[in-house]
Amino acid sequence: MHEPENRIEAYRAARATVLERMAAAAHRAGRDPGSVTLVAVSKTIAADALRDAVAAGLDLLGENRVQEALAKVPEVPGARWQLIGPLQSNKARRALEVFDSIATVDSVDLGRRLDRLVPEVRSETRYPVLVQVNVDQDPAKAGFAPPDLEAALAELLELPHLAIRGLMTVGRLTTDPAETRGTFRGLRELAERCRARWPELGPELSMGMTDDFELGIEEGATIVRVGRAIFGERPHHEHEHENGSVIPPGGH
Ligand SMILES: *Cc1c(COP(=O)(O)O)cnc(C)c1O
Repeated sequence: MHEPENRIEAYRAARATVLERMAAAAHRAGRDPGSVTLVAVSKTIAADALRDAVAAGLDLLGENRVQEALAKVPEVPGARWQLIGPLQSNKARRALEVFDSIATVDSVDLGRRLDRLVPEVRSETRYPVLVQVNVDQDPAKAGFAPPDLEAALAELLELPHLAIRGLMTVGRLTTDPAETRGTFRGLRELAERCRARWPELGPELSMGMTDDFELGIEEGATIVRVGRAIFGERPHHEHEHENGSVIPPGGH
């Protein structure tokens, strides 16, 4: 698409455009633009392109598959990596080895497993994670149902080797901004209720992707996960939803 010599410039421009849109959304909501972090979602993008992305200032990268990240991380020095896709417990150790944070803790069992592995795999005493919430209770999506969140947090916040930095959600696949806004507002309100009970729950709210990151920021996102607005359209994956949920082959 771009000649490699121009690719760094193209990424720099794409990053600047997304950051401007983020700042405008923050201003509309009376928020400090510096309070929102951009995770550049780099799934399906090859390592050589990602080296240019890092050179362009996109140094916090989001990947949704452990296997893909294992291949790319060693090839892209200078980046930090966040897992934004579902984590199977048998890949927990590998995930801790390559990712600097995990945004998709969606069960107490997974949290316990990560907590046990952190002292073996990581140098930090507490490893940063986000707890994923399925705000809309969409069966195609991972995350705690809102009614189960408080009981789960009570256990997750006790784990000594995890830092629960906040909550994450994936908006529903819809073209109606009012629905999306409702989802994001729902996550913020849940977080506020939980924080009133557990002040140690971290302040992060990860919500918003290419099609809805401005809505996310208007509703209080501190982290947005943006892929296509930076890297362009991805090749179509038969078994993967654009929203990151994975449909098993032959599944419904
Ligand atoms: C792919 C993905 C994104 C980024 O989606 P874009 O539409 O490319 O911005 C964000 N979050 C999750 C969980 C994803 O799987």
